Amino acid sequence: MISRSKQIQNADRPTVNTVPIDIGDGIFVGGSQVIMMAGPCSVESYEQTRKSAEAVAAVGGRVLRGGAYKPRTSPDTFQGLGRPGLEILRKVADEFNLLVVTEALAVEHVPIVAEMADIIQIGSRNMQHYPLLWAAGEIDKPVLLKRGYMATISEWLAAAAHIERRGNQRILLCERGIRTFDPATRNTMDTNAIALAKQISPFPVIADPSHATGQSNLVIPVARAAVAAGADGLLVEFHPDPKSALSDGHQSLPLTTLSTFYTEVAPIAAACHRELI
Ligand code: PEP
Ligand code: MN
Repeated sequence: MISRSKQIQNADRPTVNTVPIDIGDGIFVGGSQVIMMAGPCSVESYEQTRKSAEAVAAVGGRVLRGGAYKPRTSPDTFQGLGRPGLEILRKVADEFNLLVVTEALAVEHVPIVAEMADIIQIGSRNMQHYPLLWAAGEIDKPVLLKRGYMATISEWLAAAAHIERRGNQRILLCERGIRTFDPATRNTMDTNAIALAKQISPFPVIADPSHATGQSNLVIPVARAAVAAGADGLLVEFHPDPKSALSDGHQSLPLTTLSTFYTEVAPIAAACHRELI
């Protein structure tokens, strides 16, 4: 339980300016552009990932997401392709001139993910896996740190400090929804956290409306809310055929809706004097 005095402390803190982070290819997160990171939950095959990359590039997107090492709740479900998945991601991203964000699930994945990807994702369940944070702190690649779904904002920022303390300053915070009392949606997008993290931390903030909602019909409206709250980027799940997806199909949008996504979300970015790319 956060104390009232802590809340007052937050309210009294001077606003910190976001320091834009270079993620490669001249792209900065935390500046005037809102950066879209789109793609499947999991890399399932070369064809599925290539179709995704092609569609992301076709709408002007610059970053492809996709998991090769998957943190699955049940061991009976698809666990990811592992290293061959990383190879698929790199190959199709290079073909369409995209950057790659993908998860390192364990300390031993960090070197290979750092070699094959442009941004290393640390998942919600691993937000307080300190040896993983330390390993990510020692590499020269940006790290996207998802907020634990039961972590407070201060615990999330403290986890980021563990990465920073080891020397890596390129940290992207990612709000991906927290568990609340209401089971009506998978999680709840904490737009307060987006706005507050932007004010009290120099790190850019990404929002993930896919995991925050758990249902594809809510992804666009919640992405709009996140951008309005100040998000510097969006991490969104798309799939060529969500019904056949091996993970998170119910929250994945079909690739055919990528242009609608931009049409719906870009005006919110524009209203905040920003451009969605
Ligand atoms: C993901 O991005 O596919 C993922 C597993 O996210 P999270 O760690 O937020 O559940
Ligand atoms: Mn997912």
